Amino acid sequence: MQFNQVIAQAELKNQLIQSAKNDKISQAMLFLGAEGTGKLSMALAFAQYVNCEQPNDEDSCGSCASCVKCSKMIHPDVFYTYPTIGSKSLSRACIENWREFLAEESYFKYPDWIAQLANENKQGNITAEECNQIIRQHSLRHFEGKYKVQIIWGAEFLKKEGNRLLKLIEEPPANTIFILIAQSQEAILPTILSRTQVVKFPKLQLDELSSALVSYKDLSKEEALKIAQIADGSWREAKDLIGQTKHNYFEEFRGWLLNIIQLNNRPSHSFAQNLVDWNENMATSGRQNQKAFLQYTLFFIREGLAARNNLPSRLNTEERNVAIKMIDIITWRKMLGISQIINNLHYQIVRNANAKIAFLSTSMKIKALHKPQAF
Ligand SMILES: [Zn+2]
Repeated sequence: MQFNQVIAQAELKNQLIQSAKNDKISQAMLFLGAEGTGKLSMALAFAQYVNCEQPNDEDSCGSCASCVKCSKMIHPDVFYTYPTIGSKSLSRACIENWREFLAEESYFKYPDWIAQLANENKQGNITAEECNQIIRQHSLRHFEGKYKVQIIWGAEFLKKEGNRLLKLIEEPPANTIFILIAQSQEAILPTILSRTQVVKFPKLQLDELSSALVSYKDLSKEEALKIAQIADGSWREAKDLIGQTKHNYFEEFRGWLLNIIQLNNRPSHSFAQNLVDWNENMATSGRQNQKAFLQYTLFFIREGLAARNNLPSRLNTEERNVAIKMIDIITWRKMLGISQIINNLHYQIVRNANAKIAFLSTSMKIKALHKPQAF
């Protein structure tokens, strides 16, 4: 992976390159940021850069023996740790899956990775055995590159076993770099947090996402912008949304909420039937469409709340007017509640829950939450 394959984040790339050029690399870093901001890609690009035989001012060469090994993830000095399944499992036992997965897409999500390892709904973890393995592999002195790099993707999965790594992270052996990657600072052991330099990854800007989309899939500027607005700063979400913009999610969401409200106001067989039909349609529309719809809905509520509070909002005029009216009737507190319920639904859909049941139970939860009139 080269830096030019990491979407945007020019400032962070520059900081990392400068640290390498000036011999001031921080030996223990925590790459922290939301999903789809490029943390893993950046870690891979940095590992390749520091070991490249002919790096230039902006990137690794991409063609020396070291770069080739890094790009195939077979460099003997670059180690990967990631969540695996089972109480005694080791990352290296899943390295083929990891290579296969990364070769296809370096912006992926925890549930995607866990699904790659197991068909059922399993919990991933980084085991005590894996921590011992990390300690062992960094006690060996011999290496062929300039730096040994240990990437720990999913540092949130390091529970108390992670304390075994404290000494190593606090005083890494010479020419060894630890890069921990996580989405949420709260989920990191405080003992680890205090021993790392936190590198924060901002969400991608609208123009960064839309121009990346235009060059990635030759989309029109208008379509790219529409996707970028819903993707909430995530390159991964943006990619997933390609081809989904033909749907009118705004009308779909408005129709759904209205239906629930009508049923609350005047319980009748026909309103109940409408809701059942809506759920049926959504449940059979495909996982990608469901995810895109829910992403849009979260975007709509988030931006609507901003508009209601006179903050800058990315909604168009019609969306904005409806959102403000909706929030005034429902109240912003309940709107936040709806957003939370929909966020949970999104989580379930991403994890391949039964869509029919998940959407219907969400409708019922929203129905129970409020009893406003109409908008
Ligand atoms: Zn190179």
